[in-house]
Amino acid sequence: MSIVRKPTCRILLVEDQVEHQDLILRHLRNNAYYSVESRTSAFASESLALLQQEEFDVLLLDLSLPDSGPEDTLREFTEKFPHLPIIVLTSLIDPKLIENAIDWGAQDFLDKGQLNSEIVARSIRYSIQRKQTLNHLAQQNEALRTFSHTVAHEIKSPLQSVTIALHLLNEIVDLDKDEKLRKLMRLGIESTEYLTSLVGELLEFAKYEHEASKDVPVELSSVIQEVVRDLQSSHDFDDVVIDTSEALPVVLGSRMQIARVFSNLIENAVKYRSKETLVVRVRAKSSQDGWLISVEDNGRGIAEKYQKKIFQLLYRVKSNDDVGGTGIGLSFTRQIVERHGGKIWVESKLGEGSTFYVLFHQ
Ligand code: ADP
Repeated sequence: MSIVRKPTCRILLVEDQVEHQDLILRHLRNNAYYSVESRTSAFASESLALLQQEEFDVLLLDLSLPDSGPEDTLREFTEKFPHLPIIVLTSLIDPKLIENAIDWGAQDFLDKGQLNSEIVARSIRYSIQRKQTLNHLAQQNEALRTFSHTVAHEIKSPLQSVTIALHLLNEIVDLDKDEKLRKLMRLGIESTEYLTSLVGELLEFAKYEHEASKDVPVELSSVIQEVVRDLQSSHDFDDVVIDTSEALPVVLGSRMQIARVFSNLIENAVKYRSKETLVVRVRAKSSQDGWLISVEDNGRGIAEKYQKKIFQLLYRVKSNDDVGGTGIGLSFTRQIVERHGGKIWVESKLGEGSTFYVLFHQ
């Protein structure tokens, strides 16, 4: 009879209470799927050092350690060891803490009051599998991002040559004599201009995707003042009133990305204005869910059937084709807001104006 050897699983148990350590180690020894090798530590700092020195397959992590609070502990481990499966150990079932722990990157949790060897073994097995799938997906996403960035980059320079060639041709050829040639030339120049801005925006998009976004307190009023100043240098602000007189809050996130959100929204208000004086109002309201920031304009408005579609990549409303654009901005904006754990939506009436809402959970 052949004996099937169980694969080895190296586990780091981070738990500061000796009796809990003993209990968990006992269950680990009875693992049905793996032959377990374990190390223990009672401190976050010591465990981080151990993880740097040795290879582990799973981390069992108590969140209330003497040298670190729950959120900081988990964030530090997930940031420094993003590929490691983490199972959180809790003694009181606090649904909010568990939900947060999963959001912060843990694969599973174990209630120390309800442990048995089978539960522990299963949690370890499936946490490893889940994390492997996630790691694989992250690798594929990264490869895809690199691919689109390379393609956009490679297109950029031949596109520049075509644009220059078309402009030179435009100067050399006497277009006044030939209506057909004039139309073709205009089509060529407009198409290359569109492609240039598309490639530019895709590269910009990739740049933000790669930015390691560390959350910092972001003062919205100063961000919006800066955004408006920048937009004034590239857009016609005649007959435009930007009202930011209301106090705006400080939110947590990446300053550069949050600035991009409001830059896109205010730029769109300017681009899709009506013939009237444009008034853009930026306001904030505190709600149970967090800060709700609104950017309201009295521009062209958006028909109801397009109000969800405009957040899709490359989607443009046909009737606004007189204004240049690529349909990337709002999709990009939505991704940034969602990456910050927030939500974005629009309420609008065709011919009357639009209000874009951004909810930042705090
Ligand atoms: P782009 O402006 O490059 O077309 P966006 O993704 O920023 O791309 O916007 C998608 C579409 O949503 C635009 O083509 C436009 O029709 C519509 N839109 C966005 N913002 C507004 C606004 N403030 N008022 C009216 N229409 C808007």
